[in-house]
Amino acid sequence: MKKIRCPKCDETIIFDEKRFEGGRTLVFECPSCKKQFKIRMPSKNEPSEQAEEEKDVVGELVVLENSFQLKQVLPLYEGLNTIGRKVKGTDLTSPILTVDPSIDSFHCKINVIRNKQGNYVFSLSDAPSNTGTFLNNKILGDTEKANVAHGDIINLGASTIILKEKGKEDEE
Ligand SMILES: [Zn+2]
Repeated sequence: MKKIRCPKCDETIIFDEKRFEGGRTLVFECPSCKKQFKIRMPSKNEPSEQAEEEKDVVGELVVLENSFQLKQVLPLYEGLNTIGRKVKGTDLTSPILTVDPSIDSFHCKINVIRNKQGNYVFSLSDAPSNTGTFLNNKILGDTEKANVAHGDIINLGASTIILKEKGKEDEE
């Protein structure tokens, strides 16, 4: 048996989850306040909620070693990628492990969308950061969105980052 609570009045409702298939959405009516609400039954085939949120890796950022950090490779996903220095309490998709003080805790972002041809398009913009984001040695304007592609070089603070697109590794 499984216990759930009414989202409106907090009344406890007990039901036999074995009577229902996994992956189904069930509608309940609270016996106390008559509020109707839905519960989705977890499916045995779904390993976890985390796996559901997992997105496609479309490329990677290769952060080169320097006096502030070791070399590291950060995956890029479809959608918005947030890049900066890893500090406690922030939630970046691409946190860089570095002691470089000129890299902000949120320094720049790369948005990845799929165009009509089905190809991924990468666009880089400054967060904004204190020291700026450089693409192939040119600083980005405050609101500039620059297209970036395989082999482009991004500089944040003292760090050099090379963009790699998935599937293009062999062309080097
Ligand atoms: Zn209720």
